[in-house]
Amino acid sequence: MKAIRRFTVRAVIPEPLSALEELALNLRWSWHRPTQRLFRAISDEAWHASHDPIQLLGAVEPARLEALAADPGFVQQANELRDELRRYITEPRWYQGLEGAPASVAYFSAEFGVAAALPQYSGGLGILAGDHLKAASDLGIPLIGVGLFYRSGYFRQSISGDGWQHESYPVLDPDGLPLSVLRRPDGMAARVSLALPDGRSLSARVWVAAVGRVKLLLLDTNIRENDEDLRSVTDRLYGGGGEHRLLQELLLGIGGVRAIDLAVELLGLTPPTVFHTNEGHSGFQGLERISNLIGDGLSFDEALQVARAGTVFTTHTPVPAGIDRFERPLIERYFSTADLLPGVTLDQVLSLALESQMGGPDSVFNMAVLGLRLGQHANGVAKLHGRVSRAMFRPLWPGFDADEVPISSITNGVHAPTWVDSTLVALAEAHFGTGDTTRVDWESEQLADAALWAARNEMRAATVTDARRRVRAAHTVTGGIAPAWTEQVLDPGALTIGFARRGASYKRLTLMLHDRERLRGILTDPERPVQIIVAGKAHPADDDGKRLIQELYEFAEQPDIRGRIVFLPNYDITMAQTLYPGTDVWLNNPLRPMEACGTSGMKAALNGSLNLSILDGWWDEYYDGRNGWAIPSADSAGDAAERDALEANALYDLIEHQIAPMFYDRDDDGVPAQWLAHVRYALKTLSPELSADRMVMQYVDELYTPAHHFATTLAADRFAAARSLSAWKKKVVAAWPQVAVAHVESGGLDAVPQVNDALHVRAHVALGELTPDDVRVEVVYGHSEPAAGDELTELRSRELAVDTDAAAADGTGTTAFTGTVVLDRAGSFGYTVRVLPKNELLAAPAELGLVAVAG
Ligand SMILES: *Cc1c(COP(=O)(O)O)cnc(C)c1O
Repeated sequence: MKAIRRFTVRAVIPEPLSALEELALNLRWSWHRPTQRLFRAISDEAWHASHDPIQLLGAVEPARLEALAADPGFVQQANELRDELRRYITEPRWYQGLEGAPASVAYFSAEFGVAAALPQYSGGLGILAGDHLKAASDLGIPLIGVGLFYRSGYFRQSISGDGWQHESYPVLDPDGLPLSVLRRPDGMAARVSLALPDGRSLSARVWVAAVGRVKLLLLDTNIRENDEDLRSVTDRLYGGGGEHRLLQELLLGIGGVRAIDLAVELLGLTPPTVFHTNEGHSGFQGLERISNLIGDGLSFDEALQVARAGTVFTTHTPVPAGIDRFERPLIERYFSTADLLPGVTLDQVLSLALESQMGGPDSVFNMAVLGLRLGQHANGVAKLHGRVSRAMFRPLWPGFDADEVPISSITNGVHAPTWVDSTLVALAEAHFGTGDTTRVDWESEQLADAALWAARNEMRAATVTDARRRVRAAHTVTGGIAPAWTEQVLDPGALTIGFARRGASYKRLTLMLHDRERLRGILTDPERPVQIIVAGKAHPADDDGKRLIQELYEFAEQPDIRGRIVFLPNYDITMAQTLYPGTDVWLNNPLRPMEACGTSGMKAALNGSLNLSILDGWWDEYYDGRNGWAIPSADSAGDAAERDALEANALYDLIEHQIAPMFYDRDDDGVPAQWLAHVRYALKTLSPELSADRMVMQYVDELYTPAHHFATTLAADRFAAARSLSAWKKKVVAAWPQVAVAHVESGGLDAVPQVNDALHVRAHVALGELTPDDVRVEVVYGHSEPAAGDELTELRSRELAVDTDAAAADGTGTTAFTGTVVLDRAGSFGYTVRVLPKNELLAAPAELGLVAVAG
């Protein structure tokens, strides 16, 4: 029946229950348990079928709604929850107590994982974005989310009998989702459009989702105005390559800024001063803002200063394949369209992102380079990832040490109200009087071991029940009737290890299969059985990833172990919410340092599951010897196979000798006291650190507020500072070839210097056309190991001042700068003198990539 037209008829809600509509249309329900309980009370069955209030309201019999409408208790409950939602949306929260913070922030991402009911995500990046919006809402941050509405989301995964992944793309009907279309006052849907080559144009309507206080704008090209081929620009998330991907990113970046303008006008939102691009996909937003500023009378360079100042760029991957790159001819074709970005030339666009700037080919346009060129404020997503990113992008700041590359780090976090299981919340409420599990002293005696253990057992049992249901459903889809053994897979009392993540190869899904007999022994140990639950999707084009899933699936189907290891198809938020809490151990074994942060282990940790992980991403900075286990990385292994072997064996050792013995070491009541001591300690110490509130507050303090300061400073007085900064940069760049440290004199030290001695330094610097105010002349000093050649470590610096006595006196045309360094540490010491551009509107000394070092 090919010609079937499908649409969603929204249920008619009886008037007394109108609060339900308001509650269903704001995604706050996805992290507000009392609202979830209200919907569940309407129909437990319909709730479990969809975890989606709108679907639930459409599925229940009208008679049931009529009955509830006549139930004063239910009506009152619904009204109270609606009133609570309204208060939540309007009352002052953390952010309202800040000074100097932006009036509004735009947050761009190619994917958003807010709830399974709005399937617009593929994995960690999207769920992080969803958690960012939710935490921003809880903290009262005036954030506007910007993304695309993909008609089929990512994809649904099923696994055929031979273990092969199959994808399906169910079409979503936005009318059946918690979205409303952005309308003009005349009732027509508002549109953004982009000029394309050959006189064509791409239009999109804008869906608005309410995520608590935050509005999320999602652009959708599936409208009649578009040519047939352009309607499918937003068909799937990460579905196409090349041109299709470029069209999506043009729409996200350029269209996204235009959609914000519309929402400001039509919804009364506050115009943002800070633009946060979550990964490189949305980098074109900066070009659109530059084009608008040129329209206001600025030159390209002046506009660039303003756009950069207000932009925060977060990079998310050290894996080169994870970075978006486009062939230059494609970029040339689109950006020579005159009306796409009025005032911005193709050469200007290319100058910001050709890979040749970091040693690559000039035939490739790199979205990470664009992100860094257009974002004065940039960060990685864990401390280790910050270091890796600084080293990776160092070629963009030639002459500087990796430590000085202006990319900081803010470690990801996860939204506790979304991810902490209701059993644990109830436990905290009962014993500590609060449901906020991130602020509880889990080591306190107020909570007995027996009670905590009972909760952990309950959570594991729920996971097992859910896993059995999923295994049976999977068999029903592919083969008719589920075999009897599927009813008994997994054991609610056995040590349960979870492993779920995208099928990217660096994540090494099949590392655990390295020594199959050893794994079999672990799983079938009669005294200390271990069971493993695995889930994950491979990208549709990634046959290698699918083969790994198949390998694991086939292993797990063997009759003697199929009750102990299962692969659950279609990993999504709903599965994740039941899976993490019921695991005792969360396993992560990426190839270090490819995992930028990783967040699944954080969600497990917040539920009392202990991490067993390679020291990569967040675990590298948070593992402390008591809160879980570190799988040692075999960094010195000869090749990949040897590395896998060493790391897999270390993993088995930890399970066999430490984890299983501790888990099964029980007291007379069957409680594993030592295990629980670790659980309590990890819950107490990690929960506040891993929460998205911590992460988002850090973004506000360390990136949003400075970005707002720089952007508003540059824009003041009709962009006076932007004009002078731009002129100053031009002058400095032009003069820099003449800048040099001519020579350096030192004195003040004895033959054998001692700690606390003072080293006097005088440097004669040629400044060319510049004045002393334009530069910072500094002594850079640190440890200098003879073996390390010119490398200094533990770098520090001290600015030198103009030596007024020596000024003009030397007659060589140089300027003398002088100062003192106190030798405050013993050991080998090295120093040099260098000159950097200085301007209070630079966010970092390396920003311009200019430096002159003593010869
Ligand atoms: C948290 C989460 C991820 C990301 O997990 P990583 O550890 O970062 O790989 C992916 N998918 C779902 C459904 C998640 O909930």
